Amino acid sequence: MLGCAVALEIARRGMPVEVLERAIVGAEASSAAAGILAPRMEAHGREPLRSIGVESLALYPEWVAGLGADVGLTRTGLLKVVRPGDAPDAPDVEARWLDADAVRFVEPGLAPDVLGAWLLENEATLDPRKLVPAVHAAAQAAGARFRVGEEVASADPGGVTLVNGERVEGRVVVCAGAWTAKVPGLRPLPVRPVRGQLVALSGERIRHVLFGAGGYLVPRADGRVIAGATVEEVGFSRGVTAGGVRAVLQTAVSMVPDLASANFEGAWSGFRPGTPDNLPVLGDVGGIWVASGHYRNGILLAPLTAKWMAAAVVDGARLPPVFSPARF
Ligand SMILES: Cc1cc2nc3c(=O)[nH]c(=O)nc-3n(C[C@H](O)[C@H](O)[C@H](O)COP(=O)(O)OP(=O)(O)OC[C@H]3O[C@@H](n4cnc5c(N)ncnc54)[C@H](O)[C@@H]3O)c2cc1C
Repeated sequence: MLGCAVALEIARRGMPVEVLERAIVGAEASSAAAGILAPRMEAHGREPLRSIGVESLALYPEWVAGLGADVGLTRTGLLKVVRPGDAPDAPDVEARWLDADAVRFVEPGLAPDVLGAWLLENEATLDPRKLVPAVHAAAQAAGARFRVGEEVASADPGGVTLVNGERVEGRVVVCAGAWTAKVPGLRPLPVRPVRGQLVALSGERIRHVLFGAGGYLVPRADGRVIAGATVEEVGFSRGVTAGGVRAVLQTAVSMVPDLASANFEGAWSGFRPGTPDNLPVLGDVGGIWVASGHYRNGILLAPLTAKWMAAAVVDGARLPPVFSPARF
């Protein structure tokens, strides 16, 4: 996703750009994502994550309009549900408290023991499996060339060498997500895979993104509910586990009991690109550009990352030093 988004913005600025993808465009974390655009909830007051998330979310309507495709972008709002034993604190200064009656009025399916909820009315959602192909197509239309099945074997400031030995010259932007630390030639950065498992359910609807103590529920425009997510430090071990699905479903059904009779549509997992401070890595490391480490917020942060990276690579604009790879 970040590769497509950065390529789109670079191509729009008139610079030739090639995307080298070893597998399928967007098949990894970006298609696995839940599609929550919730900077205020995710940051819990922490800066600069909150500010960049809010800024990126504000870019979304115009960015999506420029893609010319329906990606399910909806301002659903988010409820941080409080139940007995949960921390009652507000997730953000903009959060508004709804007591038990008020919250059940706006979200009728919530469990009977819900004491109330914090409402963040500007948080939104989209469907990443619609967004990724839309950004891919827009980047191609803007002139970006995509080469799939091409694995980068090493990178240097003058270009990359592919596994088949081919040399591709030019400035390099590494957008390898959780695999960033595995790109030879790039100074090793502490980007690690953090596995997340999600479950899709249908037949029962919710209106808002619901965050509880153990996970979240996301309404899709097509009526499905996406339930997530595990946070697992298991390296690059792929797959969906019985324990992971059980944990996700337990949280889902305890928050919205009627989901027990929903249809199980499927489960999947992906690798979030995690960093030690949970902030993205945006900048130049030894002459190679990097846009990675977006952890839980790579979909949210895509428009802003793309805008900043294109300005830096094409026009030499300065990136905020707080995200520099030099901090590691
Ligand atoms: C379960 C889950 C739920 C999530 N939910 C949300 C959410 O609700 N909201 C949100 O904002 N974010 C969410 N995220 C986070 C978000 O998905 C990621 O931050 C984002 O997708 C990262 O995008 P990326 O392009 O950096 O990585 P990826 O999408 O993983 O793409 C990296 C690409 O690099 C390619 N690649 C790697 N190495 C090489 C190489 N050597 N040569 C060529 N190609 C290579 C890979 O094949 C892959 O296609 C979630 C993530 C997970 C796993």
